[in-house]
Amino acid sequence: MTEEIFREDGYATACAATVVAAGPDGIILDRTVFYPEGGGQPGDTGSLRLADGREIAIADTQKGEAGIRHLPAAGATLPAGGAALPAPGAAVTATIDWNRRYRFMRMHTCLHLLLACVDAEVTGGQIGEGKGRVDFNLPDPTLDKAALEARLNALIEADHPTAPVWITDEEMAARPDLIRTMSVKPPMGAGRVRLMKIGDGVDLQPCGGTHVASTGEIGPIVIGKIENKGRQNRRINLRFAD
Ligand SMILES: [Zn+2]
Repeated sequence: MTEEIFREDGYATACAATVVAAGPDGIILDRTVFYPEGGGQPGDTGSLRLADGREIAIADTQKGEAGIRHLPAAGATLPAGGAALPAPGAAVTATIDWNRRYRFMRMHTCLHLLLACVDAEVTGGQIGEGKGRVDFNLPDPTLDKAALEARLNALIEADHPTAPVWITDEEMAARPDLIRTMSVKPPMGAGRVRLMKIGDGVDLQPCGGTHVASTGEIGPIVIGKIENKGRQNRRINLRFAD
């Protein structure tokens, strides 16, 4: 399996790695800074640079059974006439599109804060370019949008630090109250589960995604439409104020 550098260090933008396999399913490396699509966050884009300087553009990153799959851009072949994928054992430098990833990290962390402000079960969520949304199982249609936006921006301005906290599978099983999304169970079976902690009691829940180091990095946000998606489903849309 691929060593997941982004789990320990969300700010790592590049790493040296070795090709493990390359084929129709993409390029698998022994280690990577590329986040694979999951938890509502899109997979990273970027490039793999070979030892001779040639670059392979990566258009998407997905999980796979053999490891994390770096997917070359459609039609992308190696420049300088080389259509072949790198051979196993080839050394590469893997570099993500940091500006894009950083926006995802900011919005992802912001969605944690939204969950901290809305006391309801989460039924879905998605992060996009400069925006994000969360669906809540909430029968009451009268969410106070202005109050929610003010509370969220106050949590951002307070610049609460974030930190990963690892617990054992047994500890996780004993704390079902920490799980906000019933449809997505935390990945158990590896012996330990990563929780994401924001501030002192702002938010604590299992999450393997990428986050900013403190909430001030999110910057001001605006709450867009609150949509009714079914009788009990409320969709809250967010975007960066800038
Ligand atoms: Zn998260």
